Amino acid sequence: MAVADDTWPEGSTDLQRLRRQLRSSQALLQVQGSLIAQLSRSENRFRQVVELLSDGLALLDPELRILYANPAFEDILGQSAASLVGLPLARFVTPRDRPCWEQLCGALLAGRSRRIRLSLTDAGGGQHFLDMEFIPRREEGRPAESTLLLARDVSELNAAQQELERLALSDPLTGLGNERSTRRFLAEHLSQRAGMPLALLWLDLDGFRRVNHSHGRSSGDRLLCAVADQLRGWCRPGDWLARMGGDEFLLIRPGLGMGFCAGLSLYPDHGQEADALLRQAATALGRAHDSGQGLVLFYEPAFTETLRTELGLEGRLRQAIEGGRLRLAYQPQMDPHGRLIGNEALARWRDGERGEVGPATFIPLAERTGMIQALGRWALEEACSQQRRWQLAGLQPPPVAVNVSPRQLLSASTPMSAMVAATLERHGLEPHLLELEITESGILPITGVSEEIERLAALGVTLAIDDFGTGYSSLESLHRLPIHKLKIDQNFTANLLTSDSARLIMRAALTMARELGLQTLVEGVETSEQLQMLEQMGCDGYQGYFFSRPLEVEDCTRLLAGNAQAG
Ligand code: C2E
Ligand code: MG
Ligand code: MG
Repeated sequence: MAVADDTWPEGSTDLQRLRRQLRSSQALLQVQGSLIAQLSRSENRFRQVVELLSDGLALLDPELRILYANPAFEDILGQSAASLVGLPLARFVTPRDRPCWEQLCGALLAGRSRRIRLSLTDAGGGQHFLDMEFIPRREEGRPAESTLLLARDVSELNAAQQELERLALSDPLTGLGNERSTRRFLAEHLSQRAGMPLALLWLDLDGFRRVNHSHGRSSGDRLLCAVADQLRGWCRPGDWLARMGGDEFLLIRPGLGMGFCAGLSLYPDHGQEADALLRQAATALGRAHDSGQGLVLFYEPAFTETLRTELGLEGRLRQAIEGGRLRLAYQPQMDPHGRLIGNEALARWRDGERGEVGPATFIPLAERTGMIQALGRWALEEACSQQRRWQLAGLQPPPVAVNVSPRQLLSASTPMSAMVAATLERHGLEPHLLELEITESGILPITGVSEEIERLAALGVTLAIDDFGTGYSSLESLHRLPIHKLKIDQNFTANLLTSDSARLIMRAALTMARELGLQTLVEGVETSEQLQMLEQMGCDGYQGYFFSRPLEVEDCTRLLAGNAQAG
C-alpha cells in the first residue's frame, strides 16, 4: 500500500495518530520509502501534515545523518532544516548520553526499532530532553537504508519528574532522608561494604501527638524541624539521618558502632521544675544502664500513663465501630466554575469520654490495631447508602469519594473489589457515583495490589491518589495503573504563597498529571489568593475551607437540595 494523500487527516497535528498510521500500515517500508518522494512535493498533503506536527520528525541516512527535518525539529535544534541536512545527529547528543547513543546505534544498524529518552544540545547550547522513536527501514538481510525519527520535547516533563523523584527521596518538611531513601542507603551500604559494621538509632518523640493536638499542626511542624536540626548537630560526615514518618527519626552511622543509653523526661508531663525534670531523666538513665546496653527509657509513670490512655481509646473505638456509632461528614469539591463535582466522605467519632476525636488520631490507631478493615467497610457501606438516599430523594448527588486505607487493598479475607461490587449492587448504585481515594503508599508495588486496583477500575468506579506528593509516588505505577485522578496534598497549597519549592512542586505535579492524562484536584484551598494562583496553574478541581468545611449530613443534604433547585 502506498500512502495516498487522503489517508492523512486534514490539518492534524497529532503525532499519536501519525504514529498509529505508520505502525498499523503493514507497508511501513513503502511508507518510508515514499517518504522522501512525498516530502519533496511541496503541494503534498502528507508533507503539510508533517510540517504542522508539534513534534519533531526527521529522516536519517544509513550513517544517521539528517536527510530531512520538519519545522518542529528545526525549533528543537535551533537551526534551519537547510543547515541541518547532512549533519550527523550524533553531533547534538549531550556528552553524558554518549554511552546510550552508542548502544542505540548498534541496535539501529541491526535494523531494530528503538524508543529512548535522550538529551540533545541545540545550536545555542540549550539542553532538550526528547522522547525519541527510531524506526529503521530495512529489507530482509540488508542494512538499514534510512531511519525515521519521531521526537517529542519532554524537557518540562523531565524536570517535573526529576523534582518528584527528589521529593520522593526526601522528607519535604525537614529536608532529611525518608524511609525510601533510607532503604536505598542501607541496601547500597550492605552490598558495597558487606561486613562493615553499622549502627542504627531509631528515635520516636513521645507526646508529639499531644503537641499537635493542643498547639496545632504548625507548632508540631516547628517542633519536628527543631528536632531535625538538633539531630543534624549530632551527625558526623558519612552519617545518614532520616525522618521515617510522623515523629520518628533514624540515624545510621557506618563504621564504629555507637553504644549509648539515654534517659528522657518530658516537661510538663513529668514535672514543673528543673530539679524534678533532671531527677527523673537521671532516674530513667540509671534504669537504662541497669537493664543492659543500648537502651532509651522514659520516665516510668508517663510511659504507663500513655499506654493506659491508648488502650482505653482503642477499646472504645472498637465498640464505636462495632456499634455503628461513627458518622460521616461530607466535604464538597468544586470545579473551576464553582460547580459541585464531588463530596469526600470523612469519618467522625464522638467518644463518650473525650468528646470529638479527630481522624488524625483514630485512623492511625485503627491502622495500627487492624480495626481499619472494619472501619473501612463501614465507611463504604454508609457512603453508598447515603448516596442512594440522596439519589432517591431526587437530589442528583455528584460522586462521593471514600477513603481507602492501603491495608484494605491487602485484605486476605474478602478482596476490596468484591466488597465494593457487592456494596454497589446492594444499594443499586451506579459505579460512576463512587470514587475511591487511595493514599500514595497504597500503590506500592506489593504483590496483589496492582491486580486489585485493576479489578476496582474494571468495576467502573473512579480511582484517585490521595495526598499526592507526600508519599512514595512511583511514576511508573501512576502510568501503569488505571488511576484517574491525583489529589495534590494540602501541604503544598498551604505553602503556595510563601514557598518557592511548594509552588514549583505544585506546578510540576499539575504538569505531570496533565501529561499522564490524569485529572487533578488540589486539597486544602483556604484563601482566594491560593485559588487565584492555582487557577493560573490550571487544575480540574478544588477542595478546602475556602469553599466549605466538611458538612454534617443534614447540611450536605441542604446543599444538594439548593443545587438541585438551582440546576
Ligand atoms: P484526607 O483524605 O486527605 O482528607 C482531607 C482532610 O483535610 C480532612 O481532614 C479535611 O477536613 C481536611 N481539610 C479539608 N479542607 C481543608 C483546608 O482547607 N484546610 C485544612 N487545614 N484542612 C482541610 P480530616 O477529616 O481530619 O481527615 C484526616 C484524614 O483522615 C483524611 O485525610 C484521611 O486520610 C483520613 N480519613 C478520614 N476518614 C477516613 C475513612 O473513612 N477511612 C480512611 N481510611 N481514612 C479516613
Ligand atoms: Mg481523602
Ligand atoms: Mg487528602
